[in-house]
Amino acid sequence: MELYHLSIEEARRVLDNGELSPVELANSLLDRIGALDDEICSYITVTKEKALEQARDAEKALKEGVRHPLLGIPLAIKDNICTKDIRTTCSSLILENFVPPYDSTAAKKLGEQGYVLTGKTNLDEFAMGSSTENAAFGRTKNPWDKARVPGGSSGGSAAAVASSQCLAALGSDTGGSIRQPAAFCGVVGLKPTYGRVSRYGLVAFASSLDQIGPITRSVRDSAIVMNAISGNDRNDSTSAEVDVPDFSSALGHDIKGMKFGIPREYFREGLDRGVEDAVAAAIKQLESLGAHPVEISLPHTEYAVAAYYILATSEASSNLARYDGVKYGLRVDGEDLSEMYRKTRESGFGAEVKRRIILGTYALSSGYYDAYYKKAQQVRTLVVQDFNKAFEDVDLIVTPTTPAPAFKAGDKTDDPLQMYLTDIFTISLNLAGVPGISIPCGFTSQDLPVGLQIIGKHFDEATVLKAAYAYEQATEWHKRKPEI
Ligand code: GLN
Repeated sequence: MELYHLSIEEARRVLDNGELSPVELANSLLDRIGALDDEICSYITVTKEKALEQARDAEKALKEGVRHPLLGIPLAIKDNICTKDIRTTCSSLILENFVPPYDSTAAKKLGEQGYVLTGKTNLDEFAMGSSTENAAFGRTKNPWDKARVPGGSSGGSAAAVASSQCLAALGSDTGGSIRQPAAFCGVVGLKPTYGRVSRYGLVAFASSLDQIGPITRSVRDSAIVMNAISGNDRNDSTSAEVDVPDFSSALGHDIKGMKFGIPREYFREGLDRGVEDAVAAAIKQLESLGAHPVEISLPHTEYAVAAYYILATSEASSNLARYDGVKYGLRVDGEDLSEMYRKTRESGFGAEVKRRIILGTYALSSGYYDAYYKKAQQVRTLVVQDFNKAFEDVDLIVTPTTPAPAFKAGDKTDDPLQMYLTDIFTISLNLAGVPGISIPCGFTSQDLPVGLQIIGKHFDEATVLKAAYAYEQATEWHKRKPEI
């Protein structure tokens, strides 16, 4: 097997026993990126020099007997997660030349284990989108079919993992941005519970919904990255003061007798046939492993997308006020201060970001606040209650990750509402703050990957990972690789 195809788990073994050097591994990935990424466009910045420097450091540390789960492991980071002295653009012209003077907590924690950064991955501008087409420096292609989108907004991370241009990557998920691209690219994506992973240094989109999480090629690798990045952080007051279990030790246990809720609202008309069939087969598979599927209801599901697009845009309109040509990035001069603001924001932001700022500003404006923002908050509470109630009776909830597989590039760019609806199955989890994973569960007749979403209780990623691992080990889907 080529080195770039190794999982973290496999690489760990051969790095630790000296059969492989971190420099060799890093070079294999960098060559792969050199050969593929002009076409796939999963990276905005490839950090070749840095990767080789970190790989040499890892080699030295290994020789000295240092051992960490991610020591010498080549990983990519979504380009809205700050990396010290490395350009972090958010795929926006307004931050084209922004070099953060500090590391996000997630990047810092990877650094403490001696990881190797391959580069910063592409995304929809400021993580606003579902296709990685709202990208200032070029769209990412789906490695399974280059005419199709990889999903978004963490499309660069998912495509890089699927095409073996890193062993794993970090993404961020505000309404589905880790799970939806993971589903479209046939890899594993986990959105942790809100508060599990520090958001310090994650460029804010919608602060009450954003979470950082791993995109990997296996469930075990997801647990390994989760172990590294989770935990309370005094730099993020919304990170939770709860114990972090060892996620790896949650794997390998049977799921006999576990109750899986199957929400009827997720199996309605409009669901793609190939997705429906794959998910139905996956539920059968879980059953054959001893789990009990139970039909449940999440009755406010149909209002989740509308509420999300009020709340997320409201928070975005406020968060993005900081890009004023003074403190960060781009500045376009004008006659006076307000003209400078106007010109900077006019030329720095793309169309979708502007649309969201306008929507959010409108929803928060004094005459409309009660009608939109407050209403949406009330809907959010109902969605939270839906999950709380469902989890009184079941251990986990199982759904398709997306209503359809990867769509063709350009198909939805002129119709924002259709684009927004692709997140219909992922958004509720962000509103409720609960964790969810997407794992490969089959292919459509057009050979496009399908994702199975497993949802857990707050801070119960361990059970989510346990069930995902049991399913993965009983199936072969995760072993398929795109032919590139
Ligand atoms: N697609 C959703 C949006 O455009 C979610 C994005 C995300 O999770 N960052 O807002």
